[in-house]
Amino acid sequence: MEHVLGLDCLVCGERHDPGAIDYVCPRHGEDGIVDVAYDYPGLRAAVDRDALSGPGMWRYRPLLPLEPPTAVPPILVGATPMHEAPRLARATGTGRVWVKDEGRQPTASLKDRASAMAVAKAAEAGARVITTSSTGNAAAALAGICASVGMANVIFVPASAPPAKVTQLLAYGSTVLLVDGVYDDAVALAMRAAATRGWYNRTTGFNPYMSEGKKTASYEIAEDLGWQAPDAVFVSVGDGCIIGGVHKGFADLVALGWIDRMPRIYGVQAAGSAYLADAWSRGEDVLTKPPIQADTVADSISAGLPRDRIKALRAVEDSEGAFVVVSDDQILAAIPAMARGSGVFGEPAGAAAYAGLVEASRLGLVGEHDRVVVLNTGSGLKDVASARAAAEAAGAEAVLISADVAALDEALDRLDIPNEPGGGS
Ligand SMILES: *Cc1c(COP(=O)(O)O)cnc(C)c1O
Ligand SMILES: [Zn+2]
Repeated sequence: MEHVLGLDCLVCGERHDPGAIDYVCPRHGEDGIVDVAYDYPGLRAAVDRDALSGPGMWRYRPLLPLEPPTAVPPILVGATPMHEAPRLARATGTGRVWVKDEGRQPTASLKDRASAMAVAKAAEAGARVITTSSTGNAAAALAGICASVGMANVIFVPASAPPAKVTQLLAYGSTVLLVDGVYDDAVALAMRAAATRGWYNRTTGFNPYMSEGKKTASYEIAEDLGWQAPDAVFVSVGDGCIIGGVHKGFADLVALGWIDRMPRIYGVQAAGSAYLADAWSRGEDVLTKPPIQADTVADSISAGLPRDRIKALRAVEDSEGAFVVVSDDQILAAIPAMARGSGVFGEPAGAAAYAGLVEASRLGLVGEHDRVVVLNTGSGLKDVASARAAAEAAGAEAVLISADVAALDEALDRLDIPNEPGGGS
């Protein structure tokens, strides 16, 4: 970690040596989230952006907090595609829109970037067991990346997690503890088990390296745009670690002089889980604001007490973005809207980012001069029940026909699909 200056406490500002603390600033317990500080002039002199190489997110390894000999997991994480979606630009009255599809990660969500980092850091620390709590995707990601290297892992998820995510854990061979409670209960138990058993702890908003893994999404966005910042980025927010990482990525690139400005970062929250949006709009102190009762169809952004709230607020404030709140109905409507307008099928929390763009456009926060990136954080296959209901609510209907030619012709005539020239005889 040649270019790491230390770990800066986001509460008191004290700089800690990475070897001197386990995860957080000891003065504030679990609230003492730290941020990895880099020697940017040193990095600028040592790293050439045109000479980057390596698979997926490890292409940016010189900008990541790893010791030189540390082995990284072999499974490909990162290098996800970003598709331009002119119909979504038209629908939202914005200049250009791209959807970056993190559903294309090995376990089908952006969490793979953080979990790959966690597994590398755990190996660096000589750990044999790694644990996390999760609403589902961080767990699936940790399970999958651990499976790629054969590392033992213990996962705490709320019993209500969507079946696809729990199924991933079981397929990958994790030890799975289904907590009869909400996400925040799962966090508390994982934290305790990690502390008493000494396991490596991946927990979001506690382990400072998770946002460092996630920041590679921003590097890819900027590099795909020819080392240009977009004007605005839409990210859904639960704990706030992704938005914190997205901000960190762009901040690194600005500090290195690889892009010339910070994009406006918009945090999208579900109306039933709007802790950060409320704190931001009312100017509340997130160190004293009590937890809320979170309830939303977008399970990945359901968080009563966002664990990475300091980084999340800083991302929006420093980038002069905003928090945008969307209802569950808006989130569900965004699933088929984004899928039909771009070809990218997101889970509710992924499509929520597009719902946020629609809402921001209605509020006049974005317009025809803006080049906008929507971060689809997870695959639609993570939660097919919600997707099915959303598609049907949007008028989609599968046509059931009996297996004979008369029924086929009758149905096709009714469906009113044009015949190609030469067809229809
Ligand atoms: C985890 C997750 C989020 C939210 O990330 P936070 O760091 O909790 O704010 C959004 N979408 C998906 C698909 C996720 O898995
Ligand atoms: Zn501190």
